[in-house]
Amino acid sequence: MKDNNCIFCLIANGNIPSRTVMENEKFRVILDLGPATAGHALVLPKEHFGDLFEIPADWAADAMKTAQEAAALIKEKLQADGLNIVQNNGETAGQTVHHFHMHIIPRYKGDGQNILWKPGKPSDAELDGVLEKIKA
Ligand code: AMP
Ligand code: ZN
Repeated sequence: MKDNNCIFCLIANGNIPSRTVMENEKFRVILDLGPATAGHALVLPKEHFGDLFEIPADWAADAMKTAQEAAALIKEKLQADGLNIVQNNGETAGQTVHHFHMHIIPRYKGDGQNILWKPGKPSDAELDGVLEKIKA
């Protein structure tokens, strides 16, 4: 289903113009308007799914395949040194547009971006406690 009030639905389906890197039957890959680095792109499904918890598994699998193809193209053409795939779910995790999308962020030596996290130092008991909760 498409949502006419959703900007990414409108962009993915070509109702709002975008800088399209590539497109297939189910997805459009566009340049992000607020890029972390040159070539930062977004993989947008043409159907509306709010986030990772709403997108069906077959669509999720195809999203990753599309991201892999677009990432290879961008990395090669822009001669990136590395590349991050980022996918945010929920405001707490940094999601600002409630339409599933994957970020493709090419990385260049010295680009000044920091997409990594600060590692914690949990005790064995804390790690065991977390695992118990997940598996309960
Ligand atoms: P997120 O924070 O994971 O929801 O990512 C949303 C991303 O969409 C941000 O990186 C924005 O810069 C980008 N964005 C928002 N509106 C547009 C738009 N109209 N065209 C391209 N990128 C957009
Ligand atoms: Zn949408």
